[in-house]
This record gives sequence, structure tokens and C-alpha cells, in this order.
Amino acid sequence: MIPPIASRFVAGESPAAVLDHVRTLNERDVKAIVNLLGEHYDERPPASDDAAEYRSLVADIAESDLEACLSVKPSQLGLDIGEDVFQEELESIVETAQDHDVFVWVDMEDHTTTDTTLDAYEELAREYEGGVGVCVQANLRRTRDDVERLADVPGKVRFVKGAYDEPEDVAYTDRERATEELKGLLEYAFEHYDGGVGVGSHDPEIVDYAIDLYDEHGTDFEVQMLMGVRTDTQYDLAEEYEVYQYVPYGSRWKSYFYRRVMERKENLRFALRAILGR
Ligand code: FAD
Repeated sequence: MIPPIASRFVAGESPAAVLDHVRTLNERDVKAIVNLLGEHYDERPPASDDAAEYRSLVADIAESDLEACLSVKPSQLGLDIGEDVFQEELESIVETAQDHDVFVWVDMEDHTTTDTTLDAYEELAREYEGGVGVCVQANLRRTRDDVERLADVPGKVRFVKGAYDEPEDVAYTDRERATEELKGLLEYAFEHYDGGVGVGSHDPEIVDYAIDLYDEHGTDFEVQMLMGVRTDTQYDLAEEYEVYQYVPYGSRWKSYFYRRVMERKENLRFALRAILGR
């Protein structure tokens, strides 16, 4: 059981719990990106078990008629074991998801995985047209080239600042620079992409910038934010724009919850208040 303190950021441990959460979001016109928590497996069974759970989840999503898609992590699908394992497990999910008309996002992990992730995405996006998307990170120096390359691929791209501590030679380690890069990438995407643009950010400066670009170019776009972060803003934005909430669930929730609590003072305060009952 997930303790109440963690339930702000994690929907529960079971598929039933996550589907319940998605239902409440859909009632407020917010759609969901569901992620089964898990990463960096070095053995096949947890990777193939998670892939099997995703395949079963897409059937549940389709049957319940919910507005939800998936987001999967490469290292959850066996990338640390081998590229072939990752590609096989990912394709098994995308194929089933396509049968049920459920979209699949591929999260981006640290820079050592970017080539493999983009190659796998590109192959699947061409085969399962309109069914797959990938995340790119503005803090990586290479991303501008990647974004130009992806303009010809029939899929959606989620733009984020980047969550990983990367070395200076491959990344802009200054947060302000990453924010400026993200704006430049969004400008390019709103001008050149026709598959759709995902904006994965809680930063009002970025969200407003994307809305201005939308007003100028009319390109399909969606705002994506995490469960438990700026929830009221998500509901407000959903009155006018497409909004997706990234909803994690599953038994491996502890390290994710810990990351959320530690990344901002407000979250830490919230956790302490919950523990102290005030
Ligand atoms: P920050 O740069 O953290 O903050 C800027 C401003 O935003 C703050 O000053 C504040 O005004 C506002 N803000 C930020 N957080 C909060 C908060 N908790 N409460 C209130 N205001 C806040 N990264 C990856 O590397 N790979 C991925 O696949 C990936 N997928 C993502 C998917 C989604 C849906 C989202 C939302 C993020 C994802 N990320 C991913 C994480 C991303 O790279 C950033 O690390 C993360 O979003 C923090 O950057 P930010 O743009 O939200 O704002």
C-alpha cells in the first residue's frame, strides 16, 4: 500500500488504482500519460514483466474508454542488458498499443542512451505511424541536431529541460541556458513539426512561450506536467489547451517519491507536514 504522503505524486500500486486516478483526471478534461515505475534492470524478467504489464494495461485503457497513453523508460525495458532486448520489448508494447489505439511515449534517460533511444523510436515511428513519441532534452548540446533530424519522422516529440546531471562536454549545465535552449527548440518545432509538440515543463515561462508559439503557428501541441505538481494550473490550462498529466504507479514508488520530495523545498515541507499531521 502507498502511504497517503506519497499519494500526491504516485497514483497507487496497481493498474486498478492508476485507472481510477485517470478517470478523475479525464472528468476535468486532463488526459493521462501512465508510467509503471521501474528502471535500470539488469535481468530479463523484470524488464519482460513490466512490458507484459504495459501490454495488459493498454487493453484495460481501451476497454475503460479512458483518455490515456503510456510512457516507458528504455532501461526499464532492458536497455542495460542489451539494445536488442530493449528494442524487442518496446516493439511488443507499441504493437499491442497500436491494436488498441493507445499512444506510447519513450522517455529519454541519460546521454549515453540517446542514440539507441532515438534509433529505436525512429524505426517504430515509421512502422507504427502516429502511435509513438519520444522525449528530447534541451540541456544536451546535441539536441538541436536531433530535433532537426526528427522533423522528418512521423511521430510526436516531447521537449523538456532534462532531468539528468550530465557532464559539461555534452550538456549545458547552467539551468538558464537550458531554458533558453528549450525556447529555441520549441520555436523550431512549432515551425517545422506536423506530428505534434509535447511541452513537458512546469515552468510558467516555458508554458507561456509555447502558448505564444501556438497562437502564431497553430501547430498541435500539448502541455505535460507531473502528477502532484501545479495541479490547479493543469486544470485551468485544460479549459483551453490539451493537457496531459504524467501519472506514475507501481510497487517501485519509493525512489521516485524521494526524488520529487527532494527536488523542491515546497515538496519537502509538504512531506514533513504530512508526517507531523499538520
Ligand atoms: P524547473 O526548471 O524545475 O523550474 C522552473 C520554474 O517552474 C520554477 O521556478 C517554478 O516557477 C516552476 N516550477 C517547477 N517545479 C515546480 C513545482 N513543483 N511547483 C511549482 N512550480 C514549479 N526529463 C528527462 O530527462 N527525460 C524525460 O523523459 C522527461 N520526461 C518528462 C515528462 C514530463 C511530463 C515532465 C513534466 C518532465 C519530464 N522530464 C523529463 C523532466 C524535465 O526534464 C525537468 O527536469 C523537469 O520538468 C523540471 O523542469 P521544469 O521545466 O518543469 O521547471
